[in-house]
Amino acid sequence: MRLIDAQKILQDYFGYADFRSGQKALLSLISEGKNTLGIMPTGGGKSLCYQIPGILLDGTAIIISPLISLMKDQVDSLHTLGVKATYINSSLTSEEYNERMRLLSEGYYDLVYVAPERFDSPFFLTTINKLQISFIVFDEAHCISQWGHDFRPSYRSIIDTINQLTQIPFRLALTATATQEVIEDIQRLLSIDDQSVVNTGFYRDNLHFHVVKGQNKQDFLINYISQHRQESGIIYAPTRKLVESIHAKLIKEGFRAAYYHAGLAEDVRRNEQNRFINDQVEIMVATNAFGMGIDKSNVRYVIHYSLPMNIEAYYQEAGRAGRDGEVSNCILLFSGQDSHLQSFLIEQSELDEEMKSLEYKKLRAMINYCHTDKCLPCYILDYFGEKNPYHDCGHCTNCTDQSEKVDRTRDAQMVLSCVMRMEQRFGATLTAKVLKGSKDKKIKQFELDQLSTYGLMKERTEKQITEFIHFLIAEGYLSTGSDRFPILKLTQKAADVLKNKEQVWMRQTEIQQVAETDFDPELFERFRELRKQIATEEKIPPYVVFSDATLKDLCRYLPKNKEEMLMIKGIGLKKYDSYGKAFLDTIKVHTNN
Ligand code: ADP
Ligand code: MG
Ligand code: ZN
Repeated sequence: MRLIDAQKILQDYFGYADFRSGQKALLSLISEGKNTLGIMPTGGGKSLCYQIPGILLDGTAIIISPLISLMKDQVDSLHTLGVKATYINSSLTSEEYNERMRLLSEGYYDLVYVAPERFDSPFFLTTINKLQISFIVFDEAHCISQWGHDFRPSYRSIIDTINQLTQIPFRLALTATATQEVIEDIQRLLSIDDQSVVNTGFYRDNLHFHVVKGQNKQDFLINYISQHRQESGIIYAPTRKLVESIHAKLIKEGFRAAYYHAGLAEDVRRNEQNRFINDQVEIMVATNAFGMGIDKSNVRYVIHYSLPMNIEAYYQEAGRAGRDGEVSNCILLFSGQDSHLQSFLIEQSELDEEMKSLEYKKLRAMINYCHTDKCLPCYILDYFGEKNPYHDCGHCTNCTDQSEKVDRTRDAQMVLSCVMRMEQRFGATLTAKVLKGSKDKKIKQFELDQLSTYGLMKERTEKQITEFIHFLIAEGYLSTGSDRFPILKLTQKAADVLKNKEQVWMRQTEIQQVAETDFDPELFERFRELRKQIATEEKIPPYVVFSDATLKDLCRYLPKNKEEMLMIKGIGLKKYDSYGKAFLDTIKVHTNN
């Protein structure tokens, strides 16, 4: 295999002009037939590194992947490019299975996807033993290591089986997450030498991280999604109840949204998931039960409505945005009280004391993420002990926040002294009522209207005051303990504020539009419709037809003919033949108007 041929396939089939640097390094190792390991982030373009050699090299490439749900997508995509590929797994009918095994034994396929379990089948093994195999791919290779976070013994045991084949093909291992231990383990198990490891780390510069605090979450959410109506996004909430109430709220406000949690019947869950994947709705509201094995590539934002359990979980969930490499937002809405639910879950868990204290430590790192002034992805990389290729990302809340901070020391003193006068016995709601000067009957009952702080902030709304109290909690001026009914207590920092030894500064977080829109959104919407229509006819997900990036480029460059169309990122010859005309026609109609 020559790199120049790989380059041609990249252009003709996939419609891309250049390899990314990690891809080039991997492909040159593969072209030498070396056992190779590639560690590249999600969305980094690992698939091309075996798809192109699969097409070019003689024989059939076998791709082993533990994620059965992703195989169909991959194969559908390859079919739209005119590649001979298939998958063999337990979801097939026996007719389908027999047909595919027959074609496999005839050497028809360039690529075959299988689950690890397939290697338990003697029939499969005798078939591939007679076959010319170009090479074997271990996708999600961290699963073969017992040090990995998702160890699968059945996956690891394949290695012995493969070593008993009459002709042992070379192997390519790929993963997006591997610690040094896991890397060494994979190398040892698959006989990969140090020169054959390509590690681009897992930093993803298309993800823009944001933390939003001190704002009303629901207002922020509605406002954000109103400004991003044409984009797909996931909203993660910590409980089923909250998922349902956010979902209901969004529907009431006229948004198209699906929802998902473990309490729903399986067919409901599947249906909701499909509506999201097929772009029938833009928004998915879900608990963390949603997302495993979802490969929807055009998710433009992931919003966490509350604090995730730890950084590991957060990075995984947030990482479902931007798999197509386009700029995407990962937004965490934080309020000081969020940590109570997570503490509660740790407390209630079956873990032993040592494990519990480890979980608390991880939770604290998560909370610190919400408070740090550091560049957010840098914080995450540090947490994972990864070397950081950039000093500052330049996109996250902390890198971009130029909004002026306002001095809220006076307001803070009012709240804090009110908490003190209320003898640190009440929660945020009642404290806000006192400051507002409310006539609530509880106030009468506890004679709180006698306090000197009663009505001190009467020109503000109760909601504003409550939000400000939550800001003071988030910033550590007030603590709330871990009771079911959080009671406000003053901290050392509060004492300093009351003594005028410390000032309180606050800033409003505003998330900029994801890049400037330099194309006509109306045309983009028409393309989306067309894409959805084609996808429905062909029974494939819309992003398999064309990615968001391709649609945007079409809007920007408005190609008029085949040559111009082939210059667009993601349009190769086969895709042009299948879809080119429909899109050219749409452009014609649009430009004539
Ligand atoms: P991974 O498996 O590493 O998560 P994928 O192989 O699914 O990533 O690729 C992610 C996205 O990047 C896909 O939409 C793919 O088409 C695109 N892509 C891959 N290589 C290139 C390239 N050289 N130029 C432009 N886009 C690319
Ligand atoms: Mg992949
Ligand atoms: Zn940053």
